[in-house]
Amino acid sequence: MEFNSRSFGKRRITVLLLVVLSVLFLLLKTCKHKKIEKIESVFHKSEFSGSTVSKSKEDKLEFKRKVRRGENLASILFSENVDQSLIPAIISKTGEIYDLKKIIAGNSFLISFDVNGFRLFRYSIAKNKYVEVSKSGNGLISGRIVEIPYEIRVEFVSGTIRGSLYESLTILEEGGGELAEHLAALYEYDIDFNRDIRRGDSFTILLEKKYLKGKFLGYGRIFASEFVNRGKKTSVIRFASQKGKSSYYHPDGKAVKKMFLRCPLPFLRLTSGFGFRKRHPVTGFSAVHNGIDLGAARGTIVRSTADGRVFSTGYNRFRGKYIVVSHGNRYKTHYYHLSRIRKGIGRGKWVKQGSVIGYVGSTGRSTGPHLHYGLQRGGRYINPLRLNSPSRNPVKKCDKERFGNSVKIIFSLFEIGNTDILNDYLKQLIFNSALNLIGDSI
Ligand SMILES: [Zn+2]
Repeated sequence: MEFNSRSFGKRRITVLLLVVLSVLFLLLKTCKHKKIEKIESVFHKSEFSGSTVSKSKEDKLEFKRKVRRGENLASILFSENVDQSLIPAIISKTGEIYDLKKIIAGNSFLISFDVNGFRLFRYSIAKNKYVEVSKSGNGLISGRIVEIPYEIRVEFVSGTIRGSLYESLTILEEGGGELAEHLAALYEYDIDFNRDIRRGDSFTILLEKKYLKGKFLGYGRIFASEFVNRGKKTSVIRFASQKGKSSYYHPDGKAVKKMFLRCPLPFLRLTSGFGFRKRHPVTGFSAVHNGIDLGAARGTIVRSTADGRVFSTGYNRFRGKYIVVSHGNRYKTHYYHLSRIRKGIGRGKWVKQGSVIGYVGSTGRSTGPHLHYGLQRGGRYINPLRLNSPSRNPVKKCDKERFGNSVKIIFSLFEIGNTDILNDYLKQLIFNSALNLIGDSI
């Protein structure tokens, strides 16, 4: 813990103390009969001992390498000088627990010997999973699949947008592309990450990060997030109802999930700031045009922006291939110039929000691949970008007080989360306490 009195002001300390105190106070108050034992079990120990080609004191020999092209289990065991009389038993044991066809070039394995010859064979099937077939003292061959639990840490990730969201996060750290997808999914009701985001936008996310032997492997749940888009901050928090169902809400208690997605196109992994803007023009809405045009590469998937029922599909010389979906009695959405309508999508078919209904094209009156997206309310065309999309399932009355407290605490953590005035242990302690309050725990 770095504790440099010049590095932070009195205000910071005050905020910090307030947060710590209020977390403790609220926990005592709201979780009277909840156990808070979990706080101490922050880290799981990995049981996998790192193995390279080595010779240990007990005369153990280990060979570790990748499966080569054309090799199968038999040839691997043979080439690594495993006693030929054991090979059939090792193969059949492996085959009992794992599909031998999945032993393929590029994946790594390890074979270990001791004074009695073959000891074990390990084949990794995932970053944290391997098949292990071993010989015991009495010569019996046995097999198992070993899965090493990830070590989960709760951390803050923050950054500023420079190019596209994808680029900005890729620069940020390993796994940025995955995080961009998570964020895009979390905000797809509020922000269109293909079009709305600007240089200088910023974000802070409180989330789980998975590690294996200290190495970052990927992301888990997002607990809370703040995204500042063109000066407007949109905050989201994960919260579990009394019944234990977790969903995402805005701090006012409204559900993040709304009736309409902001954009029928998916989050595109765009790169290069210039091309990004050029390839994604949007013509403004006008009463004559009856919708907006979204530029995208031919073949890009088109999603229904809300649950509904296909009203019509077809072709005409203006719309090209098109789909109209009705959502209850009041709303209809229109998708034109498609290259293709998805198989099975026809009049009367029920579609889910976000499900693929067609693909971007340039059919009908169109000068290049783009999607024309229109939205009708009560028969009149309205600007989909201006729609104040209805949101359902807000926080329930019985959960309101706990939700209010959660919002207060979690977002005050944002004040201290990125500083180094707390050491990792204290941070995890506070995060875990706070997460217990919102109904999620590690
Ligand atoms: Zn258009």
